[in-house]
Amino acid sequence: MTNNTAKYIIVGAGLSGLTSAYVLNKQGETDFLVLESRNRIGGRILTDNNIDFGATWFQNHHQNVIDLLDEIVVDKFHQFNKGKSVLVYSTMAPAHYFENDPSTPSAFRIAGGTTAMIQELAKTNADKIKTKTTVLEVNDNDNGVSVITDKGEFKAEKVIITIPPRIATRISFSPGLPEMLTKTMENTHTWMSNAIKVGITFKNPFWKDKKLSGTLIGQVGAVTELYDHSNINEDRFALMGFVNEGLRDVSEKERKTRILEHLQKFLGAEVLDYITYQEKDWSQDKNTSCDTIKSIYMSPRYGDSKFKEFYVNGKVLFSGAETSPVYGGYMDGAIYSGVVAAKNILEK
Ligand SMILES: Cc1cc2nc3c(=O)[nH]c(=O)nc-3n(C[C@H](O)[C@H](O)[C@H](O)COP(=O)(O)OP(=O)(O)OC[C@H]3O[C@@H](n4cnc5c(N)ncnc54)[C@H](O)[C@@H]3O)c2cc1C
Repeated sequence: MTNNTAKYIIVGAGLSGLTSAYVLNKQGETDFLVLESRNRIGGRILTDNNIDFGATWFQNHHQNVIDLLDEIVVDKFHQFNKGKSVLVYSTMAPAHYFENDPSTPSAFRIAGGTTAMIQELAKTNADKIKTKTTVLEVNDNDNGVSVITDKGEFKAEKVIITIPPRIATRISFSPGLPEMLTKTMENTHTWMSNAIKVGITFKNPFWKDKKLSGTLIGQVGAVTELYDHSNINEDRFALMGFVNEGLRDVSEKERKTRILEHLQKFLGAEVLDYITYQEKDWSQDKNTSCDTIKSIYMSPRYGDSKFKEFYVNGKVLFSGAETSPVYGGYMDGAIYSGVVAAKNILEK
């Protein structure tokens, strides 16, 4: 392997790409590179200031996440939900307060934030990951594949593209991809690319003192979902949730005012006594989102069978959460597709 040449190139250092890299390494294959356009790894997994602004939760049935965390030895813990939760379902009626059923286990979170899984997964392959490198073209030639990036040319025998299918249509392929595949890629919504998250940290978990869980579900209002987001050791306290997309186009200042007013109404004036306040609108992030924002709240059917084939004369394979027939769009799907892609490319 020279600096810009490797047997395999993985495009994208999100959960799927890093899983493929991890599996290749585990199988004894170390001749690969991972090219990532952002200046960080993780893709739609982003923990900042102890707050998960991207993926957070998984459930008992997400076996691929559970197995991976066990293997790389990263702890999980239950989402805090003790106490009264708030349901805001109408502008006319008062909010409804309810207790969660203690016999139903809550979702899991990752100790240290979801990024802890990414850091651990990438650890052994850190020298093979090139950030700030955007792939622009993938061209077949007699000797393999030429991968043109904004940092120059890379060469490989085979390439795994793990970036969301709709974003991957920005890459020029030669020979070109079949029209049906391009159409499918264009129509594949990037899960959660429309989400706006808010994370607020506090000195004290004042909601717990009031016997509130910190959960607020709102069909109306500035915040559609909010949860306690304190850390596993319960010594750093936060609330995190999803912002009503109706507030996307108001000014930053107004959005913040309306969010804090809304939370103050249901959790108390202590909300205003925060340490930090941050938002992340994924629709504005060009490495996840495209120009047309589609607000989709139910996971669409992912894992089109066309993503199982090799393209560009058998040298390019697509992977990533949206290509997965297993829990497509979710972390579980990203891991599943990453494992399958690594195995398929080794077997080809
Ligand atoms: C707000 C939000 C909340 C979520 N909540 C949950 C949750 O609670 N539970 C759950 O299971 N899932 C959740 N998800 C989904 C989860 O984040 C994804 O399933 C998973 O992270 C996808 O991983 P991936 O590797 O397939 O894709 P990505 O993470 O999108 O990785 C693709 C990578 O490719 C890079 N890239 C893009 N274009 C190029 C290019 N031209 N050249 C090189 N690199 C490029 C990107 O920068 C990115 O790093 C959430 C997502 C978001 C955004």
